[in-house]
Amino acid sequence: MGPTDYDIAIAGGGLVGAALGALLLRQGRVDPQRVLLLERDWPEAPAPGTPLDLRVSAYSRASQQVLQSCDAWRRLDATRSAPYERMQVWHEGIAPESADALRFEAAEIAEPDLGAIIENRAVQAALLAAYVDAGGQVQRERLVGLTQSAECVQLQTESGPCSARLLVGADGAASRVRELAGITASQRSYGEQAIVATVRSAQPHRFTAWQSFLATGPLALLPLADGQCSIVWSAVDDEAARLMALEESAFNLALTRASGGALGALALSSERWVFPLRRLSADHYVAGRCVLVGDAAHVIHPLAGQGVNQGLLDAASLCEVIADRPSREDVGALRLLRRYERARRSGNALMGTMVDQLDGLLTGKVGFGGRLAREGMGLVARHALLRQFFVRQAMGVAGDLPRAARALR
Ligand SMILES: Cc1cc2nc3c(=O)[nH]c(=O)nc-3n(C[C@H](O)[C@H](O)[C@H](O)COP(=O)(O)OP(=O)(O)OC[C@H]3O[C@@H](n4cnc5c(N)ncnc54)[C@H](O)[C@@H]3O)c2cc1C
Repeated sequence: MGPTDYDIAIAGGGLVGAALGALLLRQGRVDPQRVLLLERDWPEAPAPGTPLDLRVSAYSRASQQVLQSCDAWRRLDATRSAPYERMQVWHEGIAPESADALRFEAAEIAEPDLGAIIENRAVQAALLAAYVDAGGQVQRERLVGLTQSAECVQLQTESGPCSARLLVGADGAASRVRELAGITASQRSYGEQAIVATVRSAQPHRFTAWQSFLATGPLALLPLADGQCSIVWSAVDDEAARLMALEESAFNLALTRASGGALGALALSSERWVFPLRRLSADHYVAGRCVLVGDAAHVIHPLAGQGVNQGLLDAASLCEVIADRPSREDVGALRLLRRYERARRSGNALMGTMVDQLDGLLTGKVGFGGRLAREGMGLVARHALLRQFFVRQAMGVAGDLPRAARALR
């Protein structure tokens, strides 16, 4: 094979692309000089003492392990993350503390927490710093075109061309790599929008992630390190537009009512942002020497807080097949990329389907399926073994995990 500028180019240094870069340099048996990350928007880590960002995510225990494997975890300011020790889930027909509400406790399986709520910007900055410190190459610009040959991918960036044996599309839901590589995807709108904001609560959040299923969509209250909560309030389009148009005091009343009073009166302490919700599933994760990870490959409803968690497992899995290749095997060999696709695609699709079914059954119409689901919730609430099963799922520690996501204990 002829020479190329890089072995691996990653388009997109968001949470997933940056994690992949940092992991590859530590565990992928690759030369840092031959790995390129293309990312134009390069965030600064939040300064100590500044208010928490509006965009936060729930990182499972498996994801925390991936962040450790990336050498990013130690770079995070622990005073800005909130471990959550339990989840409380109910539907609007019952009280938040009812015996039929689901309560998942980390303590039930002798763990200190289920995961942590951390600012997206802090995690992305820590991952990018870990990548740069390990000697990875960076171009602060975008991929604008590509052509593939049997031997390499020719990339067009905003400043000119370069070549790589493997191009990873980590460029999010509107992935250029997916489009340019000719990978088709099934996509649809949920007909819902997610309203995100920070709120103060009259009662302490008790390091609990609260989730209520309303007829118009799910509402999550995630505990923050400063004692406030982050809300992700998904609602059908009309209802979301109505809620966004409400004055602050009316919105606070609607929010407190929607939360079933779980934390007493709730009041906005930030502006409200709104995100249209889409489902996307790439029909393939691989085309020639291009491969997709993270939201470029799959986008699901945020109600289960699994998008980043799935993406970090994609990164860990792709890094593992690259690390385990025979010495001198081409990093863009289709055989390797297919192994990654087999490891991740069906599990990601299954997660998306399960989340959609949960959304369909527990929100909206009361119908027979909805009644069954609500009764099922009560059943799980009363059985320790079933609860422990779901706790392990929520922590992301169930099933066959890639090495970088396994606990070191
Ligand atoms: C309201 C809401 C709440 C959520 N909460 C959670 C949660 O609690 N837990 C969870 O796990 N997930 C959550 N998610 C999902 C999560 O935010 C996404 O899954 C995650 O951000 C995807 O990361 P990514 O790196 O794949 O993509 P992105 O974050 O979209 O990053 C893509 C990157 O690629 C760059 N880029 C784009 N085009 C190009 C190009 N042509 N060339 C080079 N670079 C390019 C962009 O600048 C960007 O930095 C939530 C989503 C929403 C909408």
